[in-house]
Amino acid sequence: MALTSLPIETLLSENENHCCEGCGPDNICVKIISIADLPTRFGDFQIVAFENNKDGKEHIAIVRGDVTDGEDIPVRLHSECLTGDALGSLRCDCRDQLEAALTAIGQEEKGIVLYLRQEGRGIGLGNKIRAYALQDYGMDTVEANLALGFRDDERDYAVAAHMLQSLKVQSVQLMTNNPRKLDELTRYGVRISGRIPHILPPNPHNEFYLRTKAEKSGHLIDLKDFKGKVHLSEQHDRPVVKGMTEQQIKAPYE
Ligand SMILES: [Zn+2]
Ligand SMILES: [Zn+2]
Repeated sequence: MALTSLPIETLLSENENHCCEGCGPDNICVKIISIADLPTRFGDFQIVAFENNKDGKEHIAIVRGDVTDGEDIPVRLHSECLTGDALGSLRCDCRDQLEAALTAIGQEEKGIVLYLRQEGRGIGLGNKIRAYALQDYGMDTVEANLALGFRDDERDYAVAAHMLQSLKVQSVQLMTNNPRKLDELTRYGVRISGRIPHILPPNPHNEFYLRTKAEKSGHLIDLKDFKGKVHLSEQHDRPVVKGMTEQQIKAPYE
């Protein structure tokens, strides 16, 4: 079946003067400002730019097919991570998570990756680098994590929910390993029809997750090529890498 495409004119005109009831400094509202084709190495997408009324942050939806009025649309929420996504940092697995989501959705008829620009909104890139530096100087992850502890999760879900509503998505299958996320989105009015486990392909970049899992659950993995450092939790999901045992997947992740 040929790939469909978003009704650009309709979405743009609907969003031109959009402001939700009660939208203002305390009530975040986003609107679509532009839509363009985005061919990628993961498949053909359309990219939808959103602007919000609060701090002018520009969020992005990477959309496969015409998702408007769609049911059971596969959706992945991704939080911006400049160091991981763009630079290939090994301190986190954000890029692996993003690539796995785009690869999976790039093979579907319809789907969405919401790319949320939260790095610069919550604590910001600078504070993240500070937390990395604290770790380099021997601070433990808990202390270093304090520098990352200001993130306002609720607002992220509110923005994500609004973006899905702007795209007129009727129900979603959330790509996540975290069942709690379903409740959060539901709270903001998103209809969840299912959950798709988000499984990363194993590679040297996410091997440190396997190690963490292994240590927590008493399994041993050959780590001779391991290069990553202790992880600061950036994406909300616990990562699941293909090849993990059930026990490793269930092991508490810190
Ligand atoms: Zn709104
Ligand atoms: Zn990251």
